[in-house]
Amino acid sequence: MNSEIIAVGSELLLGQIANTNGQFLSQQLAPLGINVYYHTVVGDNKLRLQEAVIQAKKRANLIIITGGLGPTKDDLTKEAVAELLERELVYHQPSLQQIELYFHNSKRAMTENNKKQALVIEGATVLNNDHGMAPGMAFFEDGVYYLLLPGPPKELKPMYTTYGESYLLANLSEQSVIYSRVLRFFGIGEAKLEEVLLDLIESQSNPTIAPLAAEGEVTLRLTAKHEDQTKAVQLLDELEAKIQARVGKYLYGYDDTSLMQEVVNTLRAKNYKIASAESLTGGLFSRQLTDYSGISGVFSSGVVSYSSEMKEKILSVSKNTLAEYGAVSSECAIEMAQGVKKLCEADIGISFTGVAGPNQHEGKEVGTVIIGVALPSGESKSFELNLAGTRGQIRERTVKYGCYYLLK
Ligand code: ATP
Ligand code: MG
Repeated sequence: MNSEIIAVGSELLLGQIANTNGQFLSQQLAPLGINVYYHTVVGDNKLRLQEAVIQAKKRANLIIITGGLGPTKDDLTKEAVAELLERELVYHQPSLQQIELYFHNSKRAMTENNKKQALVIEGATVLNNDHGMAPGMAFFEDGVYYLLLPGPPKELKPMYTTYGESYLLANLSEQSVIYSRVLRFFGIGEAKLEEVLLDLIESQSNPTIAPLAAEGEVTLRLTAKHEDQTKAVQLLDELEAKIQARVGKYLYGYDDTSLMQEVVNTLRAKNYKIASAESLTGGLFSRQLTDYSGISGVFSSGVVSYSSEMKEKILSVSKNTLAEYGAVSSECAIEMAQGVKKLCEADIGISFTGVAGPNQHEGKEVGTVIIGVALPSGESKSFELNLAGTRGQIRERTVKYGCYYLLK
């Protein structure tokens, strides 16, 4: 089953709103095994909408049209479709009554054009609008299924999930279902990841591999299609094993997780308490950690020690270290991590020191970051980074790297 989604609305073409209906519907169709090959956006223009439908009929056997079911003159979706397919528009009595009742209850006069919302394509299955007035419709003609849905997302989404999806399920014979798995990587760039996996990306057709980069992370979405779920999962497992063999050390989690979520999971699983000493991140690590409810079980305290004096006074970083190596040094980072671990009676101490910019500090370049980790074993490590970006980005990335090192 191949589908095309046509979003109708001049405001979409003008860039005043984004086509979130298209996004929503694509996400809904994938698990049903329905391929979406085209998204079309067309203005409130009858001829151009008809041309879009003619084009879609040639390449899809499911056409979903959103928008233009309302009362105003520019709402002409069903008129355009009815005319094109030479079908009549007829009043759907229950919808008409619903509209009349709405105006009666709100003590407003019903204008004639509101009646128009109750017109439906003759012979179509009417999809109730529980959150608005214009009903949707579904029908089959000439080898093509049509779904007409209203534009406002708060009407379209419930209409689709309550009525549209069951219409499709009842009518689709093709049963193959799509299974996806997202692999999340950190510490490797998108270009590098693609280069290492290029032969797999290019040769795979089931499952497919789709890379995506966002906020310093790279994800790979593996998508398998099969009528048998066990077989689909097996296909995903086999491909993942090949990927793991090449870049497994950068893989930190699956699907909707995050680096911080994984840190929280690991701390909970091991029953470790962590404490943080933050300089350039100014408390961002502890802020993000405390977004998780019930975190007191694994987070004891966070110290923001910005000045060298306070690093010495609160965290017991030695005068000598500060004088000899400076605050942006692995020696200082390690003493900060050890200091906060001891001060807060934690199992793990983590520290962040560096130069977030925009100016150099102690002769160190902007983006120089050192993360210290004091482990439960008593061993300590430091990691030096050279990060690019704005002050905000450097701080965000620093926290992500901190999480990544904790997971290593
Ligand atoms: P109404 O009865 O509200 O007029 P309608 O079915 O006629 O509904 P449109 O007039 O096309 O739909 O769009 C109404 C509103 O719905 C738009 O102003 C916009 O806010 C939202 N909308 C329409 N299409 C989309 C879309 N593809 N993605 C997201 N929002 C949309
Ligand atoms: Mg409208």
